[in-house]
Amino acid sequence: MRLRINIALSTLALLVVVGGGRAVAEGRRRTPEFLQRKYQNLNRKFFDNNLPPVRIEWADLTEYNRLGETYRDNDGMFVVLVDKRTNLRDEDLQDTVFHEMCHVATWRKEDDPHGSAFQGCMAGIKRKVLQDASVKAR
Ligand SMILES: [Zn+2]
Repeated sequence: MRLRINIALSTLALLVVVGGGRAVAEGRRRTPEFLQRKYQNLNRKFFDNNLPPVRIEWADLTEYNRLGETYRDNDGMFVVLVDKRTNLRDEDLQDTVFHEMCHVATWRKEDDPHGSAFQGCMAGIKRKVLQDASVKAR
């Protein structure tokens, strides 16, 4: 009986450790600083730091059914919103941030915000991501 309690207790302890670890990782990933760093890293790596600094923030875009949103504030600064309820996997988050970065890069360059300039921007990034992956695989 005593043994059983011990097992039950250590299972519980294990659950707490696993659950706690995940909560910490999730909490760190969800900070505004994390997003800001992500933007800066991707700007350096894929845009030669040519994009302006932006305000990038987590938001709840559920009612608009969007993963991300970019607009220009009255003070001229770009604001990038990233939906916090989706974008759970790192790959998805990166895709969303890339998408919004291409909006910043091609802002007002064409009537259709997803037109050929935007498509070209996304294609260029995809090429660089593939190059990057093949360099790492070597
Ligand atoms: Zn878009």
